[in-house]
Amino acid sequence: MSNRKIILGLDGVPYELIEDLADKGEIPNISSLILDGNFSKMHAAIPEVSNVNWSSIVTGNNPGEHGVFGFTELIRGTYSVSFPDRRALKTDPFWTDENKRYIILNVPAMYPAPEINGTFISGFVSPELERAVSPDSELEKLEEFDYRVDVDSEKAHKSKRLFLDELFETLEIREKAYKHYWEKEWDVFMLVFTGTDRLEHFLLNAYYEEEHEHHDRFIQYFKEIDRIIGDIVEKMNEDDRLIMLSDHGMELIKQNVNVNKILEDNGLLTLGDKPEERYKNIQKGTKAFALDPGRIYLHRKDRYPRGEVEDGEEIIGEIIDIFQDLKYEGEKVIKEIRRKDEIYHGKQSHKAPDLVLTPNEGFNLKGSVKYESTYEQNIFKGKHTEDNAFIYCNDKTLPKNPTVEDVRGLIESDNDE
Ligand SMILES: [Zn+2]
Repeated sequence: MSNRKIILGLDGVPYELIEDLADKGEIPNISSLILDGNFSKMHAAIPEVSNVNWSSIVTGNNPGEHGVFGFTELIRGTYSVSFPDRRALKTDPFWTDENKRYIILNVPAMYPAPEINGTFISGFVSPELERAVSPDSELEKLEEFDYRVDVDSEKAHKSKRLFLDELFETLEIREKAYKHYWEKEWDVFMLVFTGTDRLEHFLLNAYYEEEHEHHDRFIQYFKEIDRIIGDIVEKMNEDDRLIMLSDHGMELIKQNVNVNKILEDNGLLTLGDKPEERYKNIQKGTKAFALDPGRIYLHRKDRYPRGEVEDGEEIIGEIIDIFQDLKYEGEKVIKEIRRKDEIYHGKQSHKAPDLVLTPNEGFNLKGSVKYESTYEQNIFKGKHTEDNAFIYCNDKTLPKNPTVEDVRGLIESDNDE
C-alpha cells in the first residue's frame, strides 16, 4: 500500500454551498465523491480568518500553540501593524517530516517558501514570487506558466467582469502548475484553490440572486473547480487518500460593524486626529481596542507604550455588557463573547486577544480605526463564518464535530486498505 495523500483546499467555501451546488447537479464530480465518502461540516479556527485557519490545518494546532491569531498583529511594544506569515508559526507544519516527499501548492499564509523534501509554492500573501518558490530551480518553470499566486482584487473595484476574467485565467494557470507537479514523485500532494474565497467576497450575492448579471459565471467557476477535481480523481491510485476541505465558511454581509467605533463611543478608546496613522493614533487613556475581525485587546501597561491597564477584569466586564446588548434595527449583533482562556491553550496564548466577539448572521465585524460610522456598507458581499467550513475524506471516518485542528491527523494516519 502506498499511503499517498492528496489534500485539496477550497478556500472559504461553506458546507451549504457544496451541498446546494451538488443538489442542483452543478458539481457532479464532487457530488459522486460525497456519495461514496465521508463529508461533514467543520469548525474553523477562532477568529475565522484564512491565515489562522491554514496555520491550524497544517500544524494541527490551536492558535495558542502556533501563535497566529489574525491577519494583522501589532508588533510587541509598538502600535505598528505586522502581517503574520509562515515565519510567525511557532509549531511545525506536517511537511517538516523529511521521510516523505511533498508537493505543496498555494497554501495561504505560508510565505516565504520553506525548503522541504519536494516542491513548495506559497499561496497569498506572497509579495515576491522568487521567495514564494522552493527550490529556486522551479522559478523558471513557473515563469513559463506566467504563474500567479493570487488574483488582483483591485480589479473587482473597477469591473466585476474583468475581475471574473482574471479569476478564470488564474485558475487555468493553477491547473497547468498542478498538472506539471503531479507527474513528480511525492507522498503528499496539497493544492489549495483560493479564487473561491475571492469570488465569494465580491460576488456571493450573485449566487443567491438568479437575475444577477454574474450569476451564471459564479456557478461556472465552481464547475471549473469541479472539472479539475474530477481530473485529479481520475489520476489517483485506488488506495490514495483524498482529503478535501475549506478553511472557513462564507455568508452574505448585511452590515459591517466597526467595533472600535463602539469602544470609542463608550469612552474605552481615545483616538487622535491622525486616522492615517492607524493604530499609532491610539491615545493615552485608551482602555481597549479591536483588531480584525472581532479581537479585543486590553490596552495593557506592560504591552503597549501608552497603555495603562493593569488589572483588566472590570474593563472586560464593561466590554461584555456593551456588546451583549448591542442591537442594530432591533436585532442582536453579537452571538458570542469569549475570553481568551475559553478558546486558546498553549505557550503562545499570552499573545491572544483578551476577548473575541462572534457576530450573528450577516454582521461583519471590523477592527479598523478609520471609520465614518458604526454601521457601514462597502463593496464586499461575503464574509467569513466559523461554524460551516467543510471536510471530506474518501477512506476514513471523520471525527465527530471536526475542527481544522483535526486535519493533520487525517494527513498523517495510515490509509485504510
Ligand atoms: Zn480562507
